[in-house]
Amino acid sequence: MAILGSINPIMTASWQGDAGWGIDAYIKRGGYEALKKILSENIPPEGVIAEVKKSVLRGRGGAGFPTGLKWSFMPRTMPGDKYIVCNTDEGEPGTFKDRDIMRYDPHSVIEGMIIGAYAMGATRGYNYIHGEIYELYERFEAALAEARAAGFLGQKILGSEHSFELFAHHGYGAYICGEETALLDSIEGKKGQPRFKPPFPASFGLYGRPTTVNNTETFASVPFIIRLGSENFLNAGKENNGGTKLFSISGHVERPGNYEIPLGTPFATLLEMAGGMRGGRKLKAVIPGGSSSPVLPADIMMQCTMDYDSISKAGSMLGSGAVIVMDETVCMVDVLNRLSFFYHEESCGQCTPCREGTNWLYQIVHRIETGEGKPEDLDMLLSICSNICGRTICALGDAAAFPVMSFLKHFRSEFEYHIQHKTCLVPKDVQRSGS
Ligand code: NAD
Ligand code: SF4
Repeated sequence: MAILGSINPIMTASWQGDAGWGIDAYIKRGGYEALKKILSENIPPEGVIAEVKKSVLRGRGGAGFPTGLKWSFMPRTMPGDKYIVCNTDEGEPGTFKDRDIMRYDPHSVIEGMIIGAYAMGATRGYNYIHGEIYELYERFEAALAEARAAGFLGQKILGSEHSFELFAHHGYGAYICGEETALLDSIEGKKGQPRFKPPFPASFGLYGRPTTVNNTETFASVPFIIRLGSENFLNAGKENNGGTKLFSISGHVERPGNYEIPLGTPFATLLEMAGGMRGGRKLKAVIPGGSSSPVLPADIMMQCTMDYDSISKAGSMLGSGAVIVMDETVCMVDVLNRLSFFYHEESCGQCTPCREGTNWLYQIVHRIETGEGKPEDLDMLLSICSNICGRTICALGDAAAFPVMSFLKHFRSEFEYHIQHKTCLVPKDVQRSGS
């Protein structure tokens, strides 16, 4: 089943697994009512943007940027093509929520995009779908065909003046294509590489035209904001963190999977919902928002609530809501070795600090892991990080540096032990028992 647990769910409350993805089931559970309400009551585009602003829906892809504000950047009345793009290129290690929305509720994404297009004056939309899960692309295509046949897409939707065409775009599995400007280049048929921002896509996006890129979960939340009312959506979460959110929990818990909870729910509650620590072991550390977010040790994490502000105050990021839980059997050097390899592999190579820096970070962490580390390596790692941060075109450079800095901040003694003793502080047989 798609969702393993929830508290006061909004998005997933009436999911019916594989049996309920189609348009009939979606309409039965209130689907397309939000769109009908907007068009039949002639709610103006500015009114829709105002509702989204009031709901304090923050971008669910990772950055947490206020959605209503982003929508208001679009020059709605500018003549010519304007685009909206859904980013379903979910690739952050630890994140696996958007694929479930696409599997079990693709019409909520379509309805959210139609409403977004109306609000921003967009004429065309694309959903860029992660290439390694082909079934999502096929399901989305099938859902689009249903929506077109029912008159929700195309010219003069439901007899209104609003026309909108929406297409699925199959990505090819490069992590960097999840970065919004690389994604736009990829749709244009170019090599997917990030562009400098500014200009932001709102002024220079797809084919040089105004474009808004939102995450899958962000678009899927929009119909619920219109149906429930922005205030109810906001109050389902907490101040400055509207609504509920999907969290993907992986690692050393009894029941890894997706959970929907109100933003502001204590981390301890989420951990309990996931069945607690596997085998009753002790919590050691958590990466709270996908691999790009800094790691937090257990004592800090247990004080946090799951929302953008609390996690950021604790020194990390809520990111896409990918919670990676690690118990006492984990060697932090081993974990950082894997993460550093990932960013080294996925760097697109355009910027020297990122291309060279991610390589050096991996080489040094790897030599510490394999017993070849030197005492000066730890300061060298931090120096490389400071030469990457803020000096690159896109966030991947920072994303490679954050784990290194946070692992050294909170678990430096494990790295020192590795260098001195040429082995792990956590014995290998204990590590194997936790895997
Ligand atoms: P960002 O902060 O640069 O931008 C966030 C959004 O706001 C963008 O759409 C941007 O165009 C818009 N924006 C920001 N300032 C603007 C302005 N002044 N005018 C107009 N628009 C503006 O972040 P980002 O680089 O888009 O995303 C980084 C995040 O992505 C990371 O924090 C990470 O958590 C996340 N991430 C997620 C995945 C995943 O699989 N979900 C993968 C990699 C990274
Ligand atoms: Fe490419 Fe890295 Fe530069 Fe991003 S920071 S554009 S991934 S080289």
